[in-house]
Amino acid sequence: MSFQGTIEANCPNCTDGFDAPIWSFVHGGKDPVLRDQAKAMECNLLLCPSCGAAFLPEAPWIYYEPADEILAFVFPLTFKAEEAKWREKMSADFAAMRGALGDHLPVGHEPEVFFGPEGLAQLLELEDWRRDERDVMAFFAKDLKLSVYKASPAWAREQGAPSWLPYEGRSATRDTVRAGIKKIVAANDRLTAWSDYLKTLEKDPAAPLPPPALAAH
Ligand SMILES: [Zn+2]
Repeated sequence: MSFQGTIEANCPNCTDGFDAPIWSFVHGGKDPVLRDQAKAMECNLLLCPSCGAAFLPEAPWIYYEPADEILAFVFPLTFKAEEAKWREKMSADFAAMRGALGDHLPVGHEPEVFFGPEGLAQLLELEDWRRDERDVMAFFAKDLKLSVYKASPAWAREQGAPSWLPYEGRSATRDTVRAGIKKIVAANDRLTAWSDYLKTLEKDPAAPLPPPALAAH
């Protein structure tokens, strides 16, 4: 569930102050409209009632999307001058939030910190692209009677690896995943995320399977 707070905003154009509701916590999985706004860098965009100027207020907010294991602190661009201070505040807030969000965040996973709306917009665009790519993979996997192991999306982002891994047989192991990926890339040579990950797997014979995705709510 997303929630709003009220701030006193000051228009950078005409300097008029006014009260404005802004999102302080956005659940992108439950509020697709807000997710789209974040992607368009328009989340919390305000219109000055006096002069009509559009601007982003000086108010930090949090973006949460558990299915893709995304937790991002979005600070105003002007806060970048005091980046260390705000990162410290983020760490304290995150420690407090962890309890409230329970098990829906991967252990050891640090939230993303962005100054200005652009970083989050890019992350969400990239996730959309990865989602499309993985749907194509899943289509081929089904056709080839392969199962799909769902790895942690946060792990996959960090590694630049796909989060869904096809495998052969009853259970996902390093060997059944390797066999699954070989079949997938033989069926569709445009699934380069998987052929690249296969190379990584073959380079390191001791590499374990990635951690599984957490159940998302
Ligand atoms: Zn104004």
